[in-house]
Amino acid sequence: MKLLVTGGAGFIGSAVVRLAVRRGVQVVNVDALTYAACLANVAEVADSPLYAFEHVNICDRPALDRVFATHQPDAVMHLAAESHVDRSIDSPGTFIETNITGTYTLLEAARAYWQERDRFDGFRFHHVSTDEVFGSLGPDGLFTEETPYDPRSPYSASKAASDHLVRAWGETFGLPTVLSNCSNNYGPYHFPEKLIPVVILRALAGQEIPVYGTGENVRDWLYVEDHADALLTVLEKGAPGRSYNIGGENEARNIDIVRTLCAILDRKRPGPAPYARQITLVADRPGHDQRYAIDPTRIATELGWRPSVTLEEGLEKTVQWYLDNEDWWRALQDRDGVGARLGTG
Ligand code: NAD
Repeated sequence: MKLLVTGGAGFIGSAVVRLAVRRGVQVVNVDALTYAACLANVAEVADSPLYAFEHVNICDRPALDRVFATHQPDAVMHLAAESHVDRSIDSPGTFIETNITGTYTLLEAARAYWQERDRFDGFRFHHVSTDEVFGSLGPDGLFTEETPYDPRSPYSASKAASDHLVRAWGETFGLPTVLSNCSNNYGPYHFPEKLIPVVILRALAGQEIPVYGTGENVRDWLYVEDHADALLTVLEKGAPGRSYNIGGENEARNIDIVRTLCAILDRKRPGPAPYARQITLVADRPGHDQRYAIDPTRIATELGWRPSVTLEEGLEKTVQWYLDNEDWWRALQDRDGVGARLGTG
């Protein structure tokens, strides 16, 4: 099988690329290399005969047509996106451009390619989306695949729009699409502007560890390597036209995640004082969704997939990875906006 992955130099896309190549899948990684990209994430497969890289923006239709004609993929897994909610508050335009126009352009390029080849059997267009499209939950309840869309941030609204486009291309043109909506990912190669790496790196640097609002917001946490496995499962076994929620079965309040990370660091790299003393509550994100939680019944019962890692195990592995890979994160810390408070509205 030959798989075209978009966004394969990012956090989740690179986990998919590494896992797919390890499993013998041929991969074409299409990535524009924005501020969030890092080719070191795919260094372990870069010399593999199974791997090819195309430096292409998904808004560039002629370049996409060339990529499809050159590589003739059997499937597309679409992860390229602007992904940071705080940046979507400061600069929504790039989110509209990449997440909506880019998805539209990629859908059209994929449709033309598939139609020119007599709508060949087995083709899939898999869109990787987020649980944030469903909005915010109260203390109870879970997002199912039937939960109505109710996005609240520019980021989640742009992802909801791209989900709708993918469904429309399936219904209207018969393109064999499949969708997945996952919870918060964490793990190795997480870009150092997202909560978990921010906590680890600011703790190690002896700086304040900022927690938005009161830290009561609840997220479900999914280990990125489990997610990559789930995505390949959805691609292989998912029914065209269907969507699958992917969660880690690990709900936690942000403040508890932060305290757990501090406790792991206290054990692994003891500082002069417990790291939790660096925790500082800061002004909340505007429109901060209170709670996300995933009902994973469909992917578990229909596709037989479950996460392999508990939150405790995943956080341990993640902290150890950051301790062992200082060169990787140091090289990213001077990128535009990293380390700054963004998205205060
Ligand atoms: P990321 O920001 O780490 O990586 C995104 C990648 O896409 C980067 O390599 C970037 O260069 C590339 N890209 C951006 N704009 C592009 C363009 N116009 N053309 C080509 N490439 C472009 O993102 P991530 O965290 O790996 O997320 C991947 C996907 O998963 C996104 O679609 C995101 O919405 C979705 N998602 C992420 C999470 C999460 O917790 N990180 C949760 C749910 C869903």
